[in-house]
Amino acid sequence: MISVSEAVEFIKQHIPQLTSAKLDIVDACGFVAAEDIYSPLALPPFDQSAMDGYAIKFSDLENTNIFTLGGEVAAGGNYIKKIESNSAIRIFTGASAPAGTDTVIMQEHAIVKDGTISFSPLPINQGTNVRPLGSHIQKGDIAFAKGQLITPAAVGHLTGLGITEVVVYNKPKAAIITTGDEVIEPGLELKTGSIYDSNKPMLVAALKSLGIEPIYIIHVPDKPELLYNHIQIAFEKVDILLVTGGVSVGDYDYVVPMLEKAGVQKVFHNIKQKPGKPLYFGTKENKLVFGLPGNPASVLTCFYEYVSVALKSIMGFQDTEIKKSSLPLKNSYTKKKGLTHFLKAIANDKDVEILSGQESYILHSYALANCLVYIPEDVEEKNIGDAVEVHWIN
Ligand code: AMP
Ligand code: MG
Repeated sequence: MISVSEAVEFIKQHIPQLTSAKLDIVDACGFVAAEDIYSPLALPPFDQSAMDGYAIKFSDLENTNIFTLGGEVAAGGNYIKKIESNSAIRIFTGASAPAGTDTVIMQEHAIVKDGTISFSPLPINQGTNVRPLGSHIQKGDIAFAKGQLITPAAVGHLTGLGITEVVVYNKPKAAIITTGDEVIEPGLELKTGSIYDSNKPMLVAALKSLGIEPIYIIHVPDKPELLYNHIQIAFEKVDILLVTGGVSVGDYDYVVPMLEKAGVQKVFHNIKQKPGKPLYFGTKENKLVFGLPGNPASVLTCFYEYVSVALKSIMGFQDTEIKKSSLPLKNSYTKKKGLTHFLKAIANDKDVEILSGQESYILHSYALANCLVYIPEDVEEKNIGDAVEVHWIN
């Protein structure tokens, strides 16, 4: 059995070569930039007024605080006349400050009387309320770095630079196969011995949370030939295959032999952890496969700790590991040495509370949790107030 950190390393070592494509900037939202993007222009592209008011030449205030109205420039306009001494130009937010002016005084501070304009309160600083050309970004600067997620803000930012297309990493195509004769679709009558399929919708939702739409989703009973057929079909369609259930040593656990019959090379099977000990990970050429345990809480923990590392790596994220921090524990916890424990918990900015209901068949506590508390292999107890590593899940 390998350790948690070895498992993460093995996964990172088996990430296939990333591929990229050029997308329209709006469609690129949710993808990761595959190249550094340089700004093709300076922003603002001109000295820009930040206020409705009057544009003046600051040094004119050394002589007098009485100005005459020289003209007007609204947003989108271009004032081209020469600026006379002690001339104030009516200006509006977003407008280009006329050449020769360097300061804008907000209209609330202007006193317009008898055809003249004076300003109060004074003094003000040179450049007040003017956003200088290039103060947001200079031409040639990196506007967006490779490996960053393209968010709605990035779409707006890049469009503001005149960029309409970006090169992004392709997202992996994913399949989900759940197994088990006892597992049935919600909506069907629950007979003794059967349970509803939690894993399928849960994994669909987990993939969607990373912006990935699974394209092959099926439940297969514990029939090895049928399972083999669906594994083969899935491999024709996808880059990453998630199978749940049937990865242990029970008589009906056919997943590992059927994956290997389909040509999968094992990278590891079993991790020194709870829940999720029987996790299987393998590759078939440049495709990845996770044989996840059947119990839903194990499935989700393996998704957060391992599957998401693989998915984020393929998506091109710089940062692929679960977000971690350290917090004092609100309640104590004891365990035997030997396995790392991942415990459903609720954290706030001050501390973290381990929830009751840690068994791997229980999702109720998971549905309340916002993090997992990581208790390393060799630790036997954690007391109230001890710092623990928190893995944020939402
Ligand atoms: P297995 O690894 O196939 O022995 O499954 C372990 C446990 O997980 C058993 O109690 C199964 O009934 C349960 N299980 C397996 N698949 C699912 C599923 N898709 N949804 C809910 N529970 C499941
Ligand atoms: Mg089973």
